Amino acid sequence: MKDALFQNIDEKRETLTGMADYIFDHPEYDGKEYEAAKLLTDYLKENGFTVEMGVGGYETAFRAVYENKGDAADGTYMPSIGILCEYDALIGLGHGCGHHMQGPACLGAAVAIKETCTGLPYRLVVYGTPAEETKGAKCTMIKNGCFHDIDVAFMMHGSPTTCTDVKCLADQSFKVTFHGKRAHAALAPEQGRSAFDALLIAFNGIEFLREHVPDDTRMHYTVSQLPGPANVVPVEAVGKFHLRSFSKSNLEKVVARFHDIIKGAALIAGVTYEVEQTSDYYNKIPVLKLNELLMENARLAGAPRLSPPRERTGSTDFGNVMYEVPGSCIRVAFVPEGTSSHSQEFIDAGKTEDAHNCVIYGAKSIAGAALDLIQDPSLMDAVKAEFTENQKKFR
Ligand SMILES: [Zn+2]
Ligand SMILES: [Zn+2]
Repeated sequence: MKDALFQNIDEKRETLTGMADYIFDHPEYDGKEYEAAKLLTDYLKENGFTVEMGVGGYETAFRAVYENKGDAADGTYMPSIGILCEYDALIGLGHGCGHHMQGPACLGAAVAIKETCTGLPYRLVVYGTPAEETKGAKCTMIKNGCFHDIDVAFMMHGSPTTCTDVKCLADQSFKVTFHGKRAHAALAPEQGRSAFDALLIAFNGIEFLREHVPDDTRMHYTVSQLPGPANVVPVEAVGKFHLRSFSKSNLEKVVARFHDIIKGAALIAGVTYEVEQTSDYYNKIPVLKLNELLMENARLAGAPRLSPPRERTGSTDFGNVMYEVPGSCIRVAFVPEGTSSHSQEFIDAGKTEDAHNCVIYGAKSIAGAALDLIQDPSLMDAVKAEFTENQKKFR
């Protein structure tokens, strides 16, 4: 059946790569991905999926469902396969992260399963997830009830090599504003209270903390608003902070120390402050079985530069999904090894033969892995068992 599945995807090549090229040529972002969402949902509707627009709190997010009852009697194994796609670009750069390939690849996988796998029962749920780069929309979508209807979550992403990730970093970021008192810096400095002093003390506090956190902790900061001329005691200073760890629970301990540092810095400088949390990404609960399934199907599909899972990974809103639901993303090679995403090289490769192949390899990897799970309940049991086991270790 897998041969028929892969052949079905090959037959859709022109349609799928045409959609990818169109999305590439019409970059949209930040929850305003109207054209991409319409293009993708129109295709799903034409192919018999029931589409709901505007799910999870985003106008351009969607949920598309196809259910096949198959030949089996009621109450038998009926896996719910989730396939998630992004379609947002980078502001000012266009599709520098390759998200234009994801929707077509995921749709190719979903429709091919529907057309070739008719006997067995299953449910396919395709989620369109906008604003990954700017808002991490999946974090809000999951809070608003999305993704709880699927047994597994699959994604694909363009990449320099074909691989998966074992981990991703939980990330909590904050915007901190200190409010001081303005005064002449030479004539009446004793009347002033420097907001900038508080920010500098906070940065130093983070440096002193660095020795006393778990090894996998990352902490970065920057000044996001400069306080003004040197002869005026700075009245307002704004800093941004990112705190990361592969464990959400470890990160929460670091975040508690961070709040103490900010409070202490404000006390030392005699200023007031407010803290706004700007992101809350969770770490992934690893499910190596799903990684293996995707990689095995990528190999069957003939994807190039198969590589071991990435060791250095950042933070992603998909982590929040994979914290609750077993999931994995297949990264498919389409740019030379060592190429960074969010780069001109990613843009230049966006509509090449390699990008078109990437769409097809991504579709086949996801479709093949989904088919394996639909055909073999024991595989799904193994996935769920590993997820439950690893929840104890990585939560
Ligand atoms: Zn990106
Ligand atoms: Zn990306």
